[in-house]
Amino acid sequence: MNLFDLKGKAALVTGGNGGIGLGMAKGLAQAGATIAIAGRDKAKNVAALKELGGKNVAVEADLKDEKACRAMVEEAAQKLGRLDILVNNAGTNIRKRPEEYTLDEWKLVVDTNLTSAFVASQAAYPHLQRAGGGKIVNIGSMTSIFGDFFVAPYGASKGGIVQLTRALACAWAKDNIQVNAVLPGWIDTALTQRARKDIPGLNENVLRRTPAGRWGAPADLAGIAVFLSSKASDFVTGTAIPVDGGYSSQG
Ligand code: NDP
Repeated sequence: MNLFDLKGKAALVTGGNGGIGLGMAKGLAQAGATIAIAGRDKAKNVAALKELGGKNVAVEADLKDEKACRAMVEEAAQKLGRLDILVNNAGTNIRKRPEEYTLDEWKLVVDTNLTSAFVASQAAYPHLQRAGGGKIVNIGSMTSIFGDFFVAPYGASKGGIVQLTRALACAWAKDNIQVNAVLPGWIDTALTQRARKDIPGLNENVLRRTPAGRWGAPADLAGIAVFLSSKASDFVTGTAIPVDGGYSSQG
């Protein structure tokens, strides 16, 4: 038996049309799963589907919106015929000092990063139950652990992701649903390319502060996604696993 085999499994990856989400979607597809990627940008969805190949599908949805988020899960389950795996990866950031955020900016970040993960998980729950169990993988961040000057809503949302993960893991263990979080270190994506432009010295700081001495690539998240979505992790639940080149281990 191959513990990592995902043949016959169906996975929904939010924000799967680029960056870390696409890196994880590729890993899941290579392990045999059929994938639904979800994002707002139709062109990015189409391009990502080309990269993924196979019988994978895309769903257009703005996850800030509760109804759209629930509809995304139903559409994915309907297009894939079932749902076994949900990866709550879609996320965004607005960098400012805490005293400068408007409430709308706070809500935009928290709704996108945290509330959508809760709503999508709630919508996925009956589908996972029907499948006899399932896997939820939530994407946190180093700001799930550490503070910083310009991340009040982002850090709050990513801290919340870890506690949401633990709560769902406890409540749904009886349904054979395992829920875990992944905490990426600094990964080279559109999100951080923007930050690299905005923050002088960020690139050098990341290289100096990361024991592995490099930025992560989206492909570095493929292995953990497969592990947490497969039989190999059936007794692993409620955890928050850094994938960070050692960033969180260095004092
Ligand atoms: P990208 O900006 O490359 O990707 C973000 C993804 O989220 C896109 O696919 C985007 O699709 C989707 N998305 C954003 N907002 C919405 C929305 N309102 N509705 C639907 N989809 C949305 O970023 P990353 O790949 O870097 O980030 C992925 C996750 O990893 C995020 O949760 C981020 O916080 C987290 N992370 C990233 C780190 C890094 O160093 N890169 C470090 C730690 C955590 P579209 O534009 O089509 O809507």
